[in-house]
Amino acid sequence: MTDPRSKALEVHRRLVEQYGERPWRPRLDPVAELVSTILSQNTNDRLRDQAFERLRERFPTWEAVRDAPVEAIFQAIQVAGLGRQKARRIKEALQRISRERGTLELDFLRQMSVEEARRWLTSFNGIGPKTAAIILLFALGMPAFPVDTHVHRVSKRLGLIPPKASREKAHGLLEEMMPPETYYTFHLNLIRHGREVCQARRPRCERCFLKDLCDFYASR
Ligand code: SF4
Repeated sequence: MTDPRSKALEVHRRLVEQYGERPWRPRLDPVAELVSTILSQNTNDRLRDQAFERLRERFPTWEAVRDAPVEAIFQAIQVAGLGRQKARRIKEALQRISRERGTLELDFLRQMSVEEARRWLTSFNGIGPKTAAIILLFALGMPAFPVDTHVHRVSKRLGLIPPKASREKAHGLLEEMMPPETYYTFHLNLIRHGREVCQARRPRCERCFLKDLCDFYASR
């Protein structure tokens, strides 16, 4: 199967067969998702969640976080690393949303096209294409495809995207390739496959149900 689109659809079909369909349900509201994605940079999910919980315990509202000194935010989130930088970015983002929108919410993004919403989000300091796509897809249910390290690695090995495609470029390539209604399930299932089977250092090709489709496997 050489056409990447047909291959991607077949990969999706098998991933669903193995790991199931993932019905979309918002994990967090959009502002909380934005804060959580800033906290997630250069750390793991467990420490991100700890920092997020501590922030929520210390400050009753996002307005309180916005108005707090950077040092106080830093104290709450330092477990996730890069605490001062993240504290500054969170405060700046919350201040800018309030200044531009007159209120601290992001639901207005639903009225924009995905491209407009993505442009608006990525104009924030510390929000790149992955963070923007996570907020759009996870919190707002909009058709954006986030590419994290697992999605990037697995789609390159399979040959869905060129071997040298950057993570930034991969967002657009995978969005064009897949029907929007598959984004949520495809994203989560690729991550699961990357964690459990197609691991970075030692992919378990011998037990992989995608090996007959995989460029990396064919080249070994
Ligand atoms: S065959 Fe190997 S490299 Fe290819 S997707 Fe499966 S585990 Fe990853």
